[in-house]
Amino acid sequence: MPLLPARLNLIDGRDLPAASGLTLPVIDPADASALTTLPRSDARDIDAAVAAARSAFAGAWGRTTATERGRVLMRLSAAITAQAEALSELECRDTGKPIAQARADIAACARYFEFYAGAADKLHGETVPYAAGSTVLVLRVPFGVTGHIIPWNYPAQIFGRSVGGALAAGNACVVKPAEDACLTPLRIARLALDAGLPAGALNVVCGLGAEAGAALAGHPGIAHLSFTGSPATGTAVTQAAAVHHVPVTLELGGKSPQIVFADADLDAALPVLVNAIVQNAGQTCAAGSRVLVERSVHDRVLALLAERFSALRTGPGLAGADCGPLINARQRDRVAAMVERAVGDGARVVAQSRLLPEAAATGCWFPPLLLADVDPAAPIAQEEVFGPVLCVLPFDDEAHAVALANGTPYGLTAAVWTRDGSRALRLAHAIEAGQVFINNYGAGGGIELPFGGMKHSGHGREKAFEGLRSFTTLKTVAIAHG
Ligand code: NAD
Repeated sequence: MPLLPARLNLIDGRDLPAASGLTLPVIDPADASALTTLPRSDARDIDAAVAAARSAFAGAWGRTTATERGRVLMRLSAAITAQAEALSELECRDTGKPIAQARADIAACARYFEFYAGAADKLHGETVPYAAGSTVLVLRVPFGVTGHIIPWNYPAQIFGRSVGGALAAGNACVVKPAEDACLTPLRIARLALDAGLPAGALNVVCGLGAEAGAALAGHPGIAHLSFTGSPATGTAVTQAAAVHHVPVTLELGGKSPQIVFADADLDAALPVLVNAIVQNAGQTCAAGSRVLVERSVHDRVLALLAERFSALRTGPGLAGADCGPLINARQRDRVAAMVERAVGDGARVVAQSRLLPEAAATGCWFPPLLLADVDPAAPIAQEEVFGPVLCVLPFDDEAHAVALANGTPYGLTAAVWTRDGSRALRLAHAIEAGQVFINNYGAGGGIELPFGGMKHSGHGREKAFEGLRSFTTLKTVAIAHG
């Protein structure tokens, strides 16, 4: 018997089942029990949601002033904060993440709406000095209907990040959350309507990527698409959107390096190095999954990391463990297979965290694991594991550190730990990444900081004021007046 009532899509302000009448199970990854069901939507449901968004944009929502949009989003932020504990518990059950992480995620989601509420009426266009006797206005305008395909690792946070900016800029949104975790986006979208968002301005359609997701990516009625997920799916959605020349923002994950020099403050660095890979069981696009250590301190850093990994407790999120389960059995098996291959390739398991006795045998567990003697060219050091697996690699000098840092297809985030300020800045310039942290690391953190990748990590930026601009386009009005 599922724990929660069946969930429905939110389309045009109404709670609706899938047109097909089909549902998908929602499974608690901590014990494989049934939580609820979701609508298994298809192109018909996406059509209805896009039509609702188009009419909201042409109607009440499209006429709303920027100030009023900001007020609606501020009320939504307050509503999320007021219901934070219930939302955190829902996020914890749906994704498996530790309750402390879920609380941080819900607070971040509220903060996204607060940030974009405050920014909504600060966004404006420009004038251009052009020909004599003319005035040129460059208007910054919303796209119209924006599509948002979001993943399962941070459902509430990525919903806030993507939808917050798009709504503040004046767009109407259609969201396809991940089939593995979409309970908080559905709940928060309903709160948005209660906060005064007109029906149709925000629609959430659940279902499988290959069905509902593909229908949204290829829909001729959307004018912009924001996607967060795997590189392969990023390619598929870009190809689908290109048929209608729809611009796409892509956030596709990474293989983020943390570079530790011999002069680093290890007391400050160590807890951050561990958290950057254990947070959300490593299922974080900006997880710090490679620690590059100057050879003279490599063995010492490895031993200190091993101590911390051994002390971590893996178990149910609601039990307050340091690390929860992976999202599903497929992801757990994928991580286990990558580690098995790495060990076959010569990597050495240095430490692995404990599984708490209360962890159900049916849970999708993979306790945090520390690997050394990793070949920089091996898949474990090149590909996104999306699990709590940390590779430690030695480097000889600055040039070697930069070569290793840049030696993967990804370029999302990085960190440099050193007391030498000039070296830190040289590396910040040399590293190919959308964000470089010096003596700190925010795995995906910082709503005020532009976020997005280089190389295979994607393109376009979300978060910060840049995330608001990303959901607008420019219209130039040239007036000849003599
Ligand atoms: P995915 O990229 O397939 O799924 C992400 C979202 O895209 C989900 O909402 C899914 O329903 C949707 N989707 C899937 N196929 C689609 C299609 N053809 N058209 C439109 N939408 C589609 O990710 P996954 O399969 O859940 O996870 C696989 C790997 O992706 C992970 O192991 C990890 O490496 C990576 N990943 C990265 C992030 C990130 O934050 N960068 C998030 C989730 C997964």
